[in-house]
Amino acid sequence: MKDLIIASNNKNKIREYKDILEPLGFKVMSQSEAGINIEVDETGTTFEENSLLKAQAIYDITHKNVIADDSGLEIKYLNNEPGIYSARYKGLETALERNNYVLNALKNANDRSARFICTICYIDETGKNKMFKGIWPGRIAKKISGNNGFGYDPIFIGEHKRSTTANISEEEKNMISHRGRATKLLLEYLKSVK
Ligand code: IMP
Repeated sequence: MKDLIIASNNKNKIREYKDILEPLGFKVMSQSEAGINIEVDETGTTFEENSLLKAQAIYDITHKNVIADDSGLEIKYLNNEPGIYSARYKGLETALERNNYVLNALKNANDRSARFICTICYIDETGKNKMFKGIWPGRIAKKISGNNGFGYDPIFIGEHKRSTTANISEEEKNMISHRGRATKLLLEYLKSVK
């Protein structure tokens, strides 16, 4: 079994990647399980740059297979903000505050289109990197709705949907989301090089 380190200690993220990648014969571990205790500064200006920065930092220490991802929400009316700043948009502490900020900023918007983006950077043990990008188009709702998910889910309505992502199940979200799409591309790639 080949070791594969996920550049994260987020339990949900690790569990998801384990479910998907262990059947391919990888021994999946979190950053801390791999004994790595670094906090990489996300100084890039794109999702791609930030995921590469995170993956490369861990590869340089371990020389093992590594995956790092980065994700966020782009809103057309706000010139694609919050983008790479999604997690701490406008310095607001909670998701509720960030969602209310967005709804207020779009009060008079005639275009509410938005999209979630997820990039996954994979570096194999030889040091070769490969980038996978998933895009989930949709729009911003007029009000907060739903209890599932996290972050901007209560205000994001995916394409072909009538209600926010916080109103759909985790299973359904994973099949159509930006992260689901990027992960599918990663999986296809890993199967092709196996
Ligand atoms: P990260 O990729 O874990 O750094 O996440 C960046 C931020 O983007 C999160 O903190 C959320 O605010 C937002 N985000 C990314 N993916 C999602 C999603 O699937 N639903 C809601 N918010 C998301």
